[in-house]
Amino acid sequence: MSERPQCARCSGIFCYPNIAADQTPGFDEAPSSCPTVLKTDVIEKALGRYDAEEVREFARLASVQEFECYEHTPTGIRTRIPRMEETVQFARKNEYKKLGLAFCSGLANEARLVTDILERNGFDVVSVCCKVGAIPKERIGIRPEEKISGPDLYESMCNPITQAEILNQEGVDFVILVGLCVGHDSLFIKYCQAPMTVLAVKDRVTGHNPLAAVYLSRSPYYRRLGRRAQT
Ligand code: SF4
Repeated sequence: MSERPQCARCSGIFCYPNIAADQTPGFDEAPSSCPTVLKTDVIEKALGRYDAEEVREFARLASVQEFECYEHTPTGIRTRIPRMEETVQFARKNEYKKLGLAFCSGLANEARLVTDILERNGFDVVSVCCKVGAIPKERIGIRPEEKISGPDLYESMCNPITQAEILNQEGVDFVILVGLCVGHDSLFIKYCQAPMTVLAVKDRVTGHNPLAAVYLSRSPYYRRLGRRAQT
């Protein structure tokens, strides 16, 4: 069986070398699992997709936006703007007018704030909450004892496919995800037809900052994350 790509185990990130513009990146020291070396056919094929004018322009604007998130100062390169501002700037660059917001009911306040910001920046905003439709969880086979608020209460299911279909029907130019759960986000991404970005992912215990637990995975507090699963 051929080797699996393992960029996360790479010792050097040789694909992002610090060399002059007219030099060629070298991969002699790259790991044997390096996809730049192993997957030349895929790289070639994927590169061809940028030749579609729309894709190329989107990719170009994304990289211009990336560039504008930094500034050169006498003391070195610095970051400039938070992701919310980056999102507004990127939407403006693409001349998007109508934005879709797909949010989790647990982040309704955040969704309101985001809507205020987007509207103040001149966008039309269509927003759809994950509980749209108020369909009971039993519809997808959830048992009473699996309901968060208890077996006796009505509990609406998260309904990411409907969120996506409503935004599809509304013909939004661009979608912003705010706090969808793991798995519900997967379904939303699968069914949403518009280009999208993620402003925030849900993390119920870290203020929606999942990397906080990752950073702490070598500390006593979240060491359990790094332990091998018992078999
Ligand atoms: S593509 Fe190769 S050089 Fe780049 S990170 Fe992956 S393994 Fe490292």
